[in-house]
Amino acid sequence: MTTAAPSSPRESVPCPLCASASTVPLFTRADHYPPRELFAVVRCTGCGLLRIDPRPPAAAIGSYYSDTYSWKPEEPVTGLLPRTIRAAEHAYRFHLLRYEARRMIRHVRPRPGAEILDVGCGSGDRLLVYRDLGLQPYGVEIGVAADYARDHLGLRVRRGILNDASYESGQFDLITLYNVFEHLHAPGPQLDEIFRLLRPGGHLVIEVPNHACLQFKFFGSRWAALDVPRDLYYWNAPLLARMIRQHGFELLATDFWTNWWHPPMIVLTLCPGLDPRLVWAEEHSGGGSGLLNRVLWAAMTLATPPFTFLESLLGRGSSMVVYARKP
Ligand SMILES: [Zn+2]
Repeated sequence: MTTAAPSSPRESVPCPLCASASTVPLFTRADHYPPRELFAVVRCTGCGLLRIDPRPPAAAIGSYYSDTYSWKPEEPVTGLLPRTIRAAEHAYRFHLLRYEARRMIRHVRPRPGAEILDVGCGSGDRLLVYRDLGLQPYGVEIGVAADYARDHLGLRVRRGILNDASYESGQFDLITLYNVFEHLHAPGPQLDEIFRLLRPGGHLVIEVPNHACLQFKFFGSRWAALDVPRDLYYWNAPLLARMIRQHGFELLATDFWTNWWHPPMIVLTLCPGLDPRLVWAEEHSGGGSGLLNRVLWAAMTLATPPFTFLESLLGRGSSMVVYARKP
């Protein structure tokens, strides 16, 4: 493995949960992506929250997200096999999004036509699912995918960060953050903004990696969810509950259950080279089709549901969803 020296400035900040600046080092980990810079993961001695320290400041973090990190415009494909692969990936993605959305609706039971804001909505696929389920979706997204969602899909998406999006106080019935909260440089002020935007009785839904999971226990620093330096904080259920309560929310439930056919963390932990984002990046730069990687990824995904089922059953899943309410 080759690694590189820091290419950007770094900053150290106190814990967003308990304000302690005291930490103990746990391990260093290299970025998955070139130039594979090293980052230290530390544990707060005040509360136990894990974080990257020091970290790239907010103004520098954009350089660590590739163009294909979460989305890329789909170029037309020809031929039976490429079109079949495209259709299968599309169906799989929407299957997972519908599963998450239905599970969310069972927990918070929004009224028909409820206004729902998805923070970090990417190209808007989740918003399309919300719309199909009878909700009125809105999105905010910092990346170029926001323009695609607005201009090509006609969705109500604002490009930028939540605090600059200028929504009205009490506008939303429901606000969701899927795989976003752990990326935020200032999670406390973001929770305060979400509190302002929700109407009384409105719901907050956050999905994050769970560092109290079996995979972290077994694999330690090799756990794929340690996506340095993009994931800045690593929560467990008690710490996340304490965080959202500190910002005025009432915790309703914590869900460790993931779809059986959604075991990407265990696949990536065991075989980091199969990361679909690496395949997309290769395709985007004119490389191969990644067919072998896709076949191996699919085979691993089909082989790992027993483990995914077990970790969910034990409440030790690699991701967790908290459902909370503004009183
Ligand atoms: Zn702390």
